[in-house]
Amino acid sequence: MKKLQVEMLQNYIGGRWVRSSGSMKEPVYNPASEEILAYVPHSSTEDVDAAVHAASDAFRVWSRVPVPRRARILFKFQQLLVDHWDELARIITLENGKSYTEAYGEVQRGIECVEFAAGAPTLLMGKQLPDIATNVESGMYRYPIGVVGGITPFNFPMMVPCWMFPLAIACGNVFVLKPSERASLLANRLAELLTEAGLPDGVFSIVHGAQDVVNRMLDHPDIAAISFVGSKPVAEYVHRTGSANGKRVQALAGAKNHSIVMDDCDLDGAVKQIINAAFGSAGERCMACAVVLAVGGIGDRLVEKLKEAADALTIGNGLDKDVFLGPLIRQSHKERTLRYIDTGVREGAHLVRDGRRDAAAQGPGYFLGPTLFDHVNSGMKIWQDEIFAPVLSVVRVGTLDEAIVLANQSEFANGACLFTNNGGHVRQFREQIDAGMLGINLGVPAPMAFFPFSGWKKSFYGDLHANGTDGLEFYTRKKIVTSTW
Ligand code: NAD
Repeated sequence: MKKLQVEMLQNYIGGRWVRSSGSMKEPVYNPASEEILAYVPHSSTEDVDAAVHAASDAFRVWSRVPVPRRARILFKFQQLLVDHWDELARIITLENGKSYTEAYGEVQRGIECVEFAAGAPTLLMGKQLPDIATNVESGMYRYPIGVVGGITPFNFPMMVPCWMFPLAIACGNVFVLKPSERASLLANRLAELLTEAGLPDGVFSIVHGAQDVVNRMLDHPDIAAISFVGSKPVAEYVHRTGSANGKRVQALAGAKNHSIVMDDCDLDGAVKQIINAAFGSAGERCMACAVVLAVGGIGDRLVEKLKEAADALTIGNGLDKDVFLGPLIRQSHKERTLRYIDTGVREGAHLVRDGRRDAAAQGPGYFLGPTLFDHVNSGMKIWQDEIFAPVLSVVRVGTLDEAIVLANQSEFANGACLFTNNGGHVRQFREQIDAGMLGINLGVPAPMAFFPFSGWKKSFYGDLHANGTDGLEFYTRKKIVTSTW
């Protein structure tokens, strides 16, 4: 693997690696070993301003580069990502903790976004109507919007930035990324590969840091749009502040995804899917299954099988062979999760499997084993809040109607799944559930890059989602030309 910058991460501004002028920094840990991989600077307002200035200069040229030429650079970038697949996956596991298999899959998701964006010549075509009146024609042309700021979370250091910058730059925009300060290494490698692919200086920049960088991006007058992915309170704040400052904002937020299990389903298949959805990536996925709604008489058998499958999971360093469950991202996140487990017990939920005992067996690293609660109800904090960890709650309900009513009480509405063999149940679920991304007999219904990533309610703030034609609309503005000769 290529040697990483293990001391202080640098910003990437105007095609050059530069030290931040900020005076604060924090460590980026390997969550599996607690070893420090690098320090990430808390960049200053001046650093953000320098990146936006370089980006604005680049925009004047890049926005006029013919679309097929822009696409060609993305094709080259795609090939470089394929060539460096293993290296990228290892960096993800190193800084995020998820298993190598999960990280490998994440790289694939990133590559798919680049492939979608490389279709820019087709995506950016306008529309014409030759006769809107006698001898009068109208046409619609798409244009970029300018400097786009991207603010991303720790849980998908590759996939989430790739939801944003490939399509943004394919559309002729320039992009300033602020990666998560808890998983900041991968972004720098992406910048190196973009440069190798021939992307001109200033089209893609990185400013590392935390809250202050976000705040400067939100009020910088030369940033036209903000793409944000992260937790609900921050998404709500970013959307409100960015919108008040006249920017386009799309802010993808937290989740509490429900899976409904009917007694007519393939139970073993459902258990396999739910285990992966609840405990894969240590539950640190916005599409994680957090609640299972066991319908009718299936509860006892389901809980027994879930426990058995959870007992069989291998916990450890994600780079080790056959490890399924890696650590949580930070000690503070682990402690927050432990408090939720205490709360669940205090609230009267039945702790069927206690992941705390696996944690003790692991040594260094922020490990927590799969944790399973049964007899949870909607009055409990463990049902209401996003825990974002390997903690799964089972709620017993009598009917599909009840299950849907309960799931719809959640303030979040990112994803929802149904396990059944009954077409009527599928139709009822599809029509009545409040969620933007639905799975039938599968556990993680994350849409591919050519569909929008489509959370509802408090899982999304804005109008146009990431990816697909929503992404295209978000990163372009239009001119309608009406003419007669
Ligand atoms: P987070 O909200 O803590 O951080 C996200 C970004 O916001 C980071 O870059 C961080 O530096 C910045 N930030 C944090 N606090 C801030 C503040 N007070 N002011 C301004 N900026 C701030 O999120 P996280 O813990 O990195 O990621 C996990 C969250 O992201 C979960 O809630 C998860 O559901 C959500 N997520 C959602 C999706 C989706 O598609 N809806 C996808 C991935 C992750």
